[in-house]
Amino acid sequence: PRLFIDAPLSASAAIPLAREDAHYLINVMRRGEGDVVRVFNGRDGEWSAVIAHASRKGAGLTVADQTRPQQGVPDLWLMFAPVRRSKTELIVEKATELGAAVIAPVVTERTQSDRIKFERLQAITKEAAEQTERLDLPELRTSEKLAAVLDNWPDDRLLIFCDESGDEADAAWGGARGRGQPMAAALAGAGDRPAAILIGPEGGFSPAERDRLRSLQHVVPVTLGPRILRAETAAIAALTIWQSTCGDWR
Ligand code: SAM
Repeated sequence: PRLFIDAPLSASAAIPLAREDAHYLINVMRRGEGDVVRVFNGRDGEWSAVIAHASRKGAGLTVADQTRPQQGVPDLWLMFAPVRRSKTELIVEKATELGAAVIAPVVTERTQSDRIKFERLQAITKEAAEQTERLDLPELRTSEKLAAVLDNWPDDRLLIFCDESGDEADAAWGGARGRGQPMAAALAGAGDRPAAILIGPEGGFSPAERDRLRSLQHVVPVTLGPRILRAETAAIAALTIWQSTCGDWR
């Protein structure tokens, strides 16, 4: 088992476990005193630890030695318009598993449900990071309006705009760019520039938002194929294409 410990790790001090972590180790993973656990905190890499004591009153770990800190995959952000709660949670969980460094809900004109349960989503990133054996937690941001995000867009970062529009985009781009390039082609051309993926809400982006996005220097409209995908499918597909195209761990 592997635990995210939100505290500095050191070989000297024993670490008391939070209740939910003690429950997970003892009752879910059926571990006990003397068993080895791996712990990480997103700063110190990964350590192996031994369960020093475990009882109904709680558990504590003695940290042994540090193993290799994992190389981070390149810095990718996932920006998405919040959708129905269960689907938003799915997007956050899969973005954590697929290596997003930042997960940023953005409120667009057609976003239905702009309220997100931040603490719940944060807990999901922690569980997903433990399960997927990441050595860091993604940074989860609070919701922000797309317009404000674009006003402060960092110059060096590519914005991969997953645009499902068809004829409208063709007309606007004079057919020059069509639906936008297939995402893998767009990424191949981007080299190892930091990137962000942008996914719209159930109702898609408004024409005004599309115009605004097209006006940005470093926006690359991409298509994820000829069919209209649900937002959560599009997020998972785009992250997977990014990971298989750009992940420097290959
Ligand atoms: N406007 C769409 C419609 O006409 O039904 C629905 C939007 S879709 C459910 C949600 C988001 O997923 C889109 O805004 C886009 O970001 C992404 N998406 C879905 N299918 C896509 C595709 N084939 N290519 C690129 N992005 C896609």
